[in-house]
Amino acid sequence: MADGALLWAPAAWLDGCWQPSVLLQADTSGHWSQVTSNVEPPEHAQRLPAPVLPPLVNAHSHAFQRAFVGLAERRDSASDDFWSWRDRMYGVALRITPQQLRAVAAHLYAELLAGGYTQVCEFHYLHHDEGGQPYADPATMAWALADAAADAGIGLTLLPTLYERAGFTAHGLRHDQRRFRGTVREVLALQRAVQSSSRPLLNAGAALHSLRAVAPPSLRMLAEQADGPLHIHVAEQQAEVRDCLAATGCRPIEWLLRHASIDRRWQLVHATHSVPSEVEGVAARGAGVVLCPGTEANLGDGDCDLPGWLAAGVPLTVGSDSQVLRGFSEELRWLDYGQRLRHQQRNVAAQPQQQPATAARLFDRMLAGGAAAAGLDRWGLQAGARADLLLVDTDDPALAGVPASHLLDALVFAAPARPFAQVMVAGRWVRLQRADLQQAHVQAMAQLW
Ligand SMILES: [Zn+2]
Repeated sequence: MADGALLWAPAAWLDGCWQPSVLLQADTSGHWSQVTSNVEPPEHAQRLPAPVLPPLVNAHSHAFQRAFVGLAERRDSASDDFWSWRDRMYGVALRITPQQLRAVAAHLYAELLAGGYTQVCEFHYLHHDEGGQPYADPATMAWALADAAADAGIGLTLLPTLYERAGFTAHGLRHDQRRFRGTVREVLALQRAVQSSSRPLLNAGAALHSLRAVAPPSLRMLAEQADGPLHIHVAEQQAEVRDCLAATGCRPIEWLLRHASIDRRWQLVHATHSVPSEVEGVAARGAGVVLCPGTEANLGDGDCDLPGWLAAGVPLTVGSDSQVLRGFSEELRWLDYGQRLRHQQRNVAAQPQQQPATAARLFDRMLAGGAAAAGLDRWGLQAGARADLLLVDTDDPALAGVPASHLLDALVFAAPARPFAQVMVAGRWVRLQRADLQQAHVQAMAQLW
Protein backbone atom coordinates (compact mmCIF):
# COMPACT_ATOMS: atom_id res chain seq x y z
CA MET A 1 0.00 0.00 0.00
CA ALA A 2 1.30 3.46 -0.84
CA ASP A 3 1.93 5.95 1.93
CA GLY A 4 -1.04 8.03 2.89
CA ALA A 5 -3.56 5.49 1.65
CA LEU A 6 -7.06 4.99 2.86
CA LEU A 7 -8.52 1.74 4.24
CA TRP A 8 -12.06 0.75 5.06
CA ALA A 9 -12.89 -2.23 7.29
CA PRO A 10 -16.31 -3.74 8.01
CA ALA A 11 -15.43 -3.56 11.73
CA ALA A 12 -12.53 -2.44 13.91
CA TRP A 13 -11.74 -2.73 17.61
CA LEU A 14 -12.09 0.85 18.86
CA ASP A 15 -12.62 2.07 22.41
CA GLY A 16 -13.06 -1.44 23.80
CA CYS A 17 -15.55 -2.88 21.33
CA TRP A 18 -16.16 -3.76 17.70
CA GLN A 19 -17.35 -0.70 15.82
CA PRO A 20 -18.82 -0.99 12.34
CA SER A 21 -17.74 0.49 8.99
CA VAL A 22 -14.41 2.01 9.98
CA LEU A 23 -12.37 4.30 7.76
CA LEU A 24 -8.64 4.48 8.52
CA GLN A 25 -6.47 7.16 6.94
CA ALA A 26 -2.66 6.94 7.16
CA ASP A 27 -0.43 9.96 6.53
CA THR A 28 2.78 9.98 4.53
CA SER A 29 4.87 9.45 7.68
CA GLY A 30 3.17 6.08 8.33
CA HIS A 31 0.91 7.25 11.17
CA TRP A 32 -2.84 7.28 11.44
CA SER A 33 -4.24 10.72 10.69
CA GLN A 34 -7.89 9.78 11.15
CA VAL A 35 -9.89 6.75 12.34
CA THR A 36 -13.67 7.06 12.05
CA SER A 37 -16.47 4.53 12.53
CA ASN A 38 -19.90 4.35 10.87
CA VAL A 39 -18.58 5.62 7.54
CA GLU A 40 -19.64 4.32 4.12
CA PRO A 41 -16.58 3.16 2.14
CA PRO A 42 -15.36 5.91 -0.19
CA GLU A 43 -14.71 4.70 -3.72
CA HIS A 44 -10.96 5.23 -3.55
CA ALA A 45 -10.54 3.39 -0.22
CA GLN A 46 -9.02 -0.11 -0.07
CA ARG A 47 -11.87 -2.30 1.23
CA LEU A 48 -10.64 -4.93 3.69
CA PRO A 49 -12.52 -8.23 3.75
CA ALA A 50 -12.62 -8.78 7.52
CA PRO A 51 -12.52 -6.97 10.89
CA VAL A 52 -9.27 -5.35 12.01
CA LEU A 53 -7.57 -5.18 15.41
CA PRO A 54 -4.82 -2.95 16.69
CA PRO A 55 -1.63 -5.00 17.23
CA LEU A 56 -0.02 -5.28 20.67
CA VAL A 57 3.46 -4.36 21.84
CA ASN A 58 5.57 -7.35 22.87
CA ALA A 59 7.09 -5.69 25.91
CA HIS A 60 9.71 -8.27 26.85
CA SER A 61 11.93 -10.31 24.56
CA HIS A 62 15.36 -11.97 24.65
CA ALA A 63 15.62 -12.85 20.96
CA PHE A 64 18.63 -15.17 21.31
CA GLN A 65 16.57 -17.52 23.48
CA ARG A 66 14.54 -18.42 20.36
CA ALA A 67 17.51 -20.70 19.55
CA PHE A 68 16.76 -22.67 22.74
CA VAL A 69 13.00 -23.12 22.36
CA GLY A 70 11.94 -26.74 22.61
CA LEU A 71 15.39 -27.86 23.72
CA ALA A 72 14.89 -27.71 27.49
CA GLU A 73 11.77 -29.80 27.88
CA ARG A 74 13.48 -32.84 29.40
CA ARG A 75 14.43 -33.33 33.03
CA ASP A 76 17.82 -34.89 33.58
CA SER A 77 18.28 -34.21 37.28
CA ALA A 78 16.28 -34.57 40.49
CA SER A 79 15.38 -30.89 40.43
CA ASP A 80 14.52 -28.79 37.37
CA ASP A 81 13.57 -25.16 37.91
CA PHE A 82 14.29 -21.66 36.64
CA TRP A 83 17.88 -21.77 37.83
CA SER A 84 18.77 -25.09 36.16
CA TRP A 85 17.03 -23.84 32.98
CA ARG A 86 19.10 -20.67 33.16
CA ASP A 87 22.38 -22.58 33.39
CA ARG A 88 21.45 -24.51 30.25
CA MET A 89 20.26 -21.35 28.47
CA TYR A 90 23.65 -19.77 29.13
CA GLY A 91 25.10 -22.45 26.88
CA VAL A 92 23.45 -20.72 23.91
CA ALA A 93 24.19 -17.24 25.23
CA LEU A 94 27.89 -18.08 25.39
CA ARG A 95 28.31 -19.20 21.81
CA ILE A 96 25.83 -17.36 19.57
CA THR A 97 27.58 -15.05 17.06
CA PRO A 98 26.26 -11.73 15.75
CA GLN A 99 25.40 -13.38 12.41
CA GLN A 100 23.57 -16.22 14.13
CA LEU A 101 21.74 -13.77 16.40
CA ARG A 102 20.55 -11.79 13.39
CA ALA A 103 19.23 -14.93 11.71
CA VAL A 104 17.52 -16.31 14.81
CA ALA A 105 16.05 -12.93 15.75
CA ALA A 106 14.77 -12.15 12.23
CA HIS A 107 12.92 -15.48 12.10
CA LEU A 108 11.54 -14.81 15.57
CA TYR A 109 10.42 -11.30 14.65
CA ALA A 110 8.58 -12.62 11.58
CA GLU A 111 6.81 -15.08 13.90
CA LEU A 112 5.94 -12.27 16.32
CA LEU A 113 4.40 -10.25 13.47
CA ALA A 114 2.28 -13.25 12.49
CA GLY A 115 1.31 -13.56 16.16
CA GLY A 116 -0.07 -10.01 16.32
CA TYR A 117 2.85 -7.98 17.68
CA THR A 118 4.24 -5.13 15.57
CA GLN A 119 6.65 -3.71 18.17
CA VAL A 120 9.10 -5.66 20.30
CA CYS A 121 11.04 -4.45 23.36
CA GLU A 122 14.37 -6.23 23.32
CA PHE A 123 15.89 -6.60 26.81
CA HIS A 124 19.41 -6.81 25.51
CA TYR A 125 22.26 -7.96 27.74
CA LEU A 126 24.30 -10.11 25.35
CA HIS A 127 26.87 -7.37 24.69
CA HIS A 128 30.33 -8.90 24.29
CA ASP A 129 32.09 -11.55 22.24
CA GLU A 130 32.32 -15.20 23.25
CA GLY A 131 35.42 -14.45 25.33
CA GLY A 132 33.70 -11.61 27.17
CA GLN A 133 35.62 -8.87 25.35
CA PRO A 134 33.92 -5.89 23.67
CA TYR A 135 33.53 -6.14 19.90
CA ALA A 136 35.44 -3.56 17.84
CA ASP A 137 32.09 -1.80 17.61
CA PRO A 138 30.63 -2.32 21.11
CA ALA A 139 27.12 -2.13 19.60
CA THR A 140 27.71 -5.12 17.28
CA MET A 141 25.10 -7.35 18.97
CA ALA A 142 22.64 -4.44 19.19
CA TRP A 143 23.00 -3.88 15.45
CA ALA A 144 22.39 -7.59 14.86
CA LEU A 145 19.01 -7.16 16.57
CA ALA A 146 18.27 -3.92 14.71
CA ASP A 147 19.15 -5.59 11.39
CA ALA A 148 16.90 -8.54 12.28
CA ALA A 149 13.99 -6.22 13.05
CA ALA A 150 14.51 -4.46 9.72
CA ASP A 151 14.72 -7.83 7.92
CA ALA A 152 11.32 -8.82 9.32
CA GLY A 153 9.71 -5.38 9.28
CA ILE A 154 8.85 -5.10 12.99
CA GLY A 155 9.30 -2.02 15.19
CA LEU A 156 12.07 -2.40 17.78
CA THR A 157 12.59 -0.72 21.14
CA LEU A 158 16.13 -1.67 22.05
CA LEU A 159 16.82 -1.76 25.79
CA PRO A 160 20.58 -2.01 26.42
CA THR A 161 20.81 -3.71 29.79
CA LEU A 162 23.05 -3.12 32.77
CA TYR A 163 24.32 -6.37 34.31
CA GLU A 164 27.02 -5.91 36.95
CA ARG A 165 27.08 -8.80 39.38
CA ALA A 166 25.98 -12.39 39.88
CA GLY A 167 23.90 -11.76 43.02
CA PHE A 168 23.14 -9.36 45.85
CA THR A 169 26.39 -10.10 47.66
CA ALA A 170 28.59 -10.85 44.64
CA HIS A 171 31.30 -8.45 43.52
CA GLY A 172 31.18 -9.34 39.86
CA LEU A 173 29.80 -11.78 37.35
CA ARG A 174 30.28 -15.52 37.04
CA HIS A 175 32.59 -16.64 34.25
CA ASP A 176 29.57 -17.90 32.28
CA GLN A 177 28.05 -14.39 32.47
CA ARG A 178 31.05 -12.70 30.85
CA ARG A 179 29.18 -11.60 27.72
CA PHE A 180 26.69 -9.58 29.81
CA ARG A 181 29.18 -7.36 31.69
CA GLY A 182 28.64 -3.64 31.49
CA THR A 183 28.87 -0.28 33.20
CA VAL A 184 26.37 2.57 33.32
CA ARG A 185 28.61 4.49 30.91
CA GLU A 186 28.65 1.60 28.43
CA VAL A 187 24.88 1.15 28.58
CA LEU A 188 24.36 4.88 28.02
CA ALA A 189 26.79 4.76 25.07
CA LEU A 190 24.79 1.91 23.53
CA GLN A 191 21.59 3.88 24.01
CA ARG A 192 23.10 6.96 22.37
CA ALA A 193 24.39 4.89 19.44
CA VAL A 194 20.89 3.53 18.80
CA GLN A 195 19.30 6.95 19.20
CA SER A 196 21.71 8.57 16.78
CA SER A 197 21.19 5.97 14.06
CA SER A 198 18.64 7.03 11.49
CA ARG A 199 17.03 3.62 11.15
CA PRO A 200 13.25 3.68 10.81
CA LEU A 201 11.10 1.81 13.38
CA LEU A 202 13.95 1.81 15.91
CA ASN A 203 14.03 3.58 19.27
CA ALA A 204 15.79 3.00 22.58
CA GLY A 205 15.20 2.87 26.30
CA ALA A 206 17.35 1.09 28.87
CA ALA A 207 17.11 -1.81 31.27
CA LEU A 208 18.50 -2.90 34.61
CA HIS A 209 18.86 -6.65 34.62
CA SER A 210 17.47 -7.07 38.15
CA LEU A 211 18.04 -5.85 41.69
CA ARG A 212 20.32 -8.82 42.30
CA ALA A 213 22.44 -7.89 39.25
CA VAL A 214 22.74 -4.11 39.67
CA ALA A 215 24.12 -2.20 42.68
CA PRO A 216 21.86 0.60 43.99
CA PRO A 217 24.17 3.52 43.05
CA SER A 218 24.35 2.26 39.46
CA LEU A 219 20.58 1.77 39.35
CA ARG A 220 20.01 5.38 40.36
CA MET A 221 22.66 6.73 37.98
CA LEU A 222 21.25 4.88 34.99
CA ALA A 223 17.68 5.90 35.87
CA GLU A 224 18.77 9.54 36.03
CA GLN A 225 20.85 9.60 32.88
CA ALA A 226 19.05 7.25 30.47
CA ASP A 227 16.22 8.37 28.23
CA GLY A 228 12.98 6.57 27.53
CA PRO A 229 11.43 3.58 29.26
CA LEU A 230 13.33 1.74 32.01
CA HIS A 231 12.70 -1.98 32.28
CA ILE A 232 13.77 -4.29 35.11
CA HIS A 233 13.27 -7.99 35.93
CA VAL A 234 11.72 -7.56 39.34
CA ALA A 235 10.30 -10.58 41.18
CA GLU A 236 10.19 -13.64 38.94
CA GLN A 237 11.41 -16.17 41.47
CA GLN A 238 10.72 -16.80 45.16
CA ALA A 239 14.47 -17.29 45.68
CA GLU A 240 15.09 -13.80 44.34
CA VAL A 241 12.50 -12.37 46.77
CA ARG A 242 14.18 -14.24 49.66
CA ASP A 243 17.66 -13.07 48.61
CA CYS A 244 16.43 -9.48 48.35
CA LEU A 245 14.85 -9.68 51.81
CA ALA A 246 18.05 -11.12 53.25
CA ALA A 247 20.28 -8.51 51.61
CA THR A 248 18.13 -5.39 51.98
CA GLY A 249 15.29 -6.15 54.40
CA CYS A 250 12.80 -5.44 51.60
CA ARG A 251 10.97 -7.46 49.00
CA PRO A 252 12.06 -6.41 45.46
CA ILE A 253 9.06 -4.27 44.51
CA GLU A 254 9.02 -2.82 48.02
CA TRP A 255 12.71 -1.93 47.64
CA LEU A 256 12.06 -0.11 44.37
CA LEU A 257 9.17 1.81 45.88
CA ARG A 258 11.32 2.90 48.83
CA HIS A 259 14.67 3.49 47.20
CA ALA A 260 14.16 4.30 43.50
CA SER A 261 12.17 7.13 41.99
CA ILE A 262 9.95 4.79 40.05
CA ASP A 263 7.34 6.45 37.88
CA ARG A 264 5.61 6.01 34.50
CA ARG A 265 8.92 5.29 32.75
CA TRP A 266 9.44 2.14 34.80
CA GLN A 267 8.30 -1.26 33.56
CA LEU A 268 8.43 -4.06 36.13
CA VAL A 269 8.95 -7.30 34.24
CA HIS A 270 7.74 -10.50 35.95
CA ALA A 271 5.98 -8.81 38.87
CA THR A 272 5.09 -12.39 39.73
CA HIS A 273 5.59 -12.34 43.48
CA SER A 274 3.93 -9.32 45.08
CA VAL A 275 1.93 -8.42 48.16
CA PRO A 276 -1.08 -6.04 48.09
CA SER A 277 0.87 -3.06 49.46
CA GLU A 278 3.35 -3.42 46.58
CA VAL A 279 0.51 -3.49 44.05
CA GLU A 280 -0.92 -0.31 45.57
CA GLY A 281 2.48 1.35 45.59
CA VAL A 282 3.13 0.57 41.92
CA ALA A 283 -0.34 1.85 41.01
CA ALA A 284 0.30 5.12 42.88
CA ARG A 285 3.56 5.70 40.96
CA GLY A 286 2.08 4.92 37.54
CA ALA A 287 4.73 2.32 36.68
CA GLY A 288 3.82 -0.51 34.30
CA VAL A 289 3.96 -4.27 34.81
CA VAL A 290 5.05 -6.69 32.08
CA LEU A 291 3.64 -10.21 32.37
CA CYS A 292 5.06 -13.16 30.41
CA PRO A 293 2.55 -15.95 31.12
CA GLY A 294 3.93 -18.48 28.64
CA THR A 295 7.47 -18.23 29.94
CA GLU A 296 6.37 -17.97 33.56
CA ALA A 297 4.41 -21.22 33.13
CA ASN A 298 7.23 -22.91 31.24
CA LEU A 299 9.78 -22.00 33.91
CA GLY A 300 7.53 -22.76 36.87
CA ASP A 301 7.86 -19.18 38.14
CA GLY A 302 4.46 -18.91 39.79
CA ASP A 303 1.22 -17.04 39.26
CA CYS A 304 0.98 -13.29 39.51
CA ASP A 305 -1.74 -11.41 41.37
CA LEU A 306 -3.64 -10.71 38.15
CA PRO A 307 -6.89 -9.63 39.88
CA GLY A 308 -4.87 -7.25 42.05
CA TRP A 309 -2.95 -5.66 39.17
CA LEU A 310 -6.14 -5.31 37.12
CA ALA A 311 -8.17 -3.80 39.97
CA ALA A 312 -5.43 -1.32 40.87
CA GLY A 313 -5.41 0.07 37.32
CA VAL A 314 -1.71 -0.63 36.81
CA PRO A 315 -0.66 -0.37 33.12
CA LEU A 316 -0.06 -3.93 31.89
CA THR A 317 1.65 -5.49 28.88
CA VAL A 318 2.67 -8.99 27.83
CA GLY A 319 6.05 -10.26 26.67
CA SER A 320 7.24 -13.35 24.84
CA ASP A 321 10.44 -13.40 26.98
CA SER A 322 11.99 -16.87 26.41
CA GLN A 323 9.92 -17.20 23.18
CA VAL A 324 8.09 -20.44 24.04
CA LEU A 325 4.97 -18.57 22.84
CA ARG A 326 5.12 -16.08 20.00
CA GLY A 327 1.61 -14.66 19.73
CA PHE A 328 -0.40 -12.48 22.07
CA SER A 329 -3.56 -14.58 21.98
CA GLU A 330 -1.78 -17.52 23.61
CA GLU A 331 -0.24 -15.25 26.24
CA LEU A 332 -3.64 -13.79 27.16
CA ARG A 333 -5.18 -17.28 27.27
CA TRP A 334 -2.44 -18.57 29.58
CA LEU A 335 -2.74 -15.49 31.75
CA ASP A 336 -6.34 -16.32 32.56
CA TYR A 337 -5.85 -20.11 32.57
CA GLY A 338 -3.17 -19.79 35.27
CA GLN A 339 -5.68 -17.91 37.40
CA ARG A 340 -8.49 -20.40 36.63
CA LEU A 341 -6.32 -23.29 37.82
CA ARG A 342 -5.29 -21.41 40.94
CA HIS A 343 -8.74 -20.10 41.94
CA GLN A 344 -10.87 -22.92 40.49
CA GLN A 345 -12.96 -20.25 38.78
CA ARG A 346 -13.58 -19.25 35.17
CA ASN A 347 -13.07 -15.85 33.49
CA VAL A 348 -11.02 -14.52 36.41
CA ALA A 349 -9.89 -11.40 34.52
CA ALA A 350 -13.41 -10.40 33.52
CA GLN A 351 -15.32 -7.63 35.26
CA PRO A 352 -18.99 -8.68 35.23
CA GLN A 353 -20.64 -5.26 35.24
CA GLN A 354 -18.11 -3.25 33.21
CA GLN A 355 -16.37 -5.75 30.91
CA PRO A 356 -17.65 -9.34 31.12
CA ALA A 357 -15.45 -10.54 28.23
CA THR A 358 -12.13 -11.85 29.55
CA ALA A 359 -10.34 -11.48 26.23
CA ALA A 360 -11.58 -7.91 25.78
CA ARG A 361 -10.54 -6.82 29.27
CA LEU A 362 -7.07 -8.30 28.96
CA PHE A 363 -6.58 -7.10 25.38
CA ASP A 364 -7.61 -3.54 26.19
CA ARG A 365 -5.33 -3.37 29.20
CA MET A 366 -2.36 -4.63 27.18
CA LEU A 367 -3.22 -2.24 24.35
CA ALA A 368 -3.28 0.73 26.72
CA GLY A 369 0.05 -0.24 28.32
CA GLY A 370 1.98 -0.58 25.06
CA ALA A 371 3.04 2.98 24.33
CA ALA A 372 4.72 3.54 27.71
CA ALA A 373 6.48 0.17 27.62
CA ALA A 374 7.89 0.85 24.15
CA GLY A 375 8.65 4.54 24.67
CA LEU A 376 6.23 5.61 21.95
CA ASP A 377 3.87 8.60 22.22
CA ARG A 378 0.77 6.69 21.15
CA TRP A 379 -0.29 3.18 20.25
CA GLY A 380 -3.36 1.64 18.62
CA LEU A 381 -6.00 2.64 16.10
CA GLN A 382 -5.96 6.36 16.88
CA ALA A 383 -4.75 9.53 15.21
CA GLY A 384 -1.04 10.07 15.85
CA ALA A 385 -0.21 6.42 16.51
CA ARG A 386 1.86 4.44 14.01
CA ALA A 387 -0.36 3.04 11.26
CA ASP A 388 -0.22 -0.61 12.35
CA LEU A 389 -3.10 -3.07 12.17
CA LEU A 390 -4.06 -6.74 12.08
CA LEU A 391 -6.53 -8.13 9.57
CA VAL A 392 -8.32 -10.99 11.34
CA ASP A 393 -8.32 -14.25 9.35
CA THR A 394 -12.00 -15.09 9.53
CA ASP A 395 -11.35 -17.95 7.07
CA ASP A 396 -9.40 -19.85 9.70
CA PRO A 397 -11.40 -22.96 10.71
CA ALA A 398 -11.25 -21.92 14.39
CA LEU A 399 -13.08 -18.67 13.66
CA ALA A 400 -15.52 -19.92 11.04
CA GLY A 401 -19.11 -19.25 12.07
CA VAL A 402 -18.22 -17.31 15.21
CA PRO A 403 -20.66 -14.39 15.69
CA ALA A 404 -18.91 -11.09 15.00
CA SER A 405 -19.52 -9.91 18.57
CA HIS A 406 -17.44 -12.83 19.94
CA LEU A 407 -14.59 -12.73 17.45
CA LEU A 408 -11.96 -11.53 19.95
CA ASP A 409 -13.10 -14.10 22.57
CA ALA A 410 -12.71 -16.88 20.00
CA LEU A 411 -9.42 -15.51 18.73
CA VAL A 412 -7.93 -15.64 22.24
CA PHE A 413 -9.57 -18.82 23.57
CA ALA A 414 -10.19 -20.95 20.47
CA ALA A 415 -6.62 -20.90 19.15
CA PRO A 416 -6.74 -20.13 15.42
CA ALA A 417 -3.76 -21.56 13.56
CA ARG A 418 -3.40 -18.32 11.60
CA PRO A 419 -5.11 -15.58 13.57
CA PHE A 420 -4.20 -12.83 11.09
CA ALA A 421 -4.41 -12.82 7.31
CA GLN A 422 -2.36 -9.64 6.97
CA VAL A 423 -0.34 -7.35 9.23
CA MET A 424 0.42 -3.68 8.63
CA VAL A 425 3.34 -1.72 10.09
CA ALA A 426 3.70 2.02 9.53
CA GLY A 427 1.16 2.04 6.72
CA ARG A 428 2.61 -0.91 4.79
CA TRP A 429 1.62 -4.57 4.68
CA VAL A 430 4.49 -6.77 5.85
CA ARG A 431 5.37 -10.12 4.27
CA LEU A 432 4.31 -12.88 6.66
CA GLN A 433 5.54 -15.95 4.74
CA ARG A 434 9.29 -15.65 5.15
CA ALA A 435 10.94 -18.81 3.81
CA ASP A 436 14.13 -16.76 3.40
CA LEU A 437 14.30 -15.87 7.10
CA GLN A 438 13.38 -19.41 8.14
CA GLN A 439 16.15 -20.82 5.98
CA ALA A 440 18.73 -18.52 7.59
CA HIS A 441 17.42 -19.53 11.02
CA VAL A 442 17.77 -23.22 10.15
CA GLN A 443 21.37 -22.64 9.09
CA ALA A 444 22.15 -20.78 12.31
CA MET A 445 20.55 -23.55 14.37
CA ALA A 446 22.63 -26.16 12.53
CA GLN A 447 25.78 -24.26 13.52
CA LEU A 448 24.63 -23.79 17.12
CA TRP A 449 23.49 -27.35 17.75
ZN1 LIG B 1 13.53 -11.64 30.75
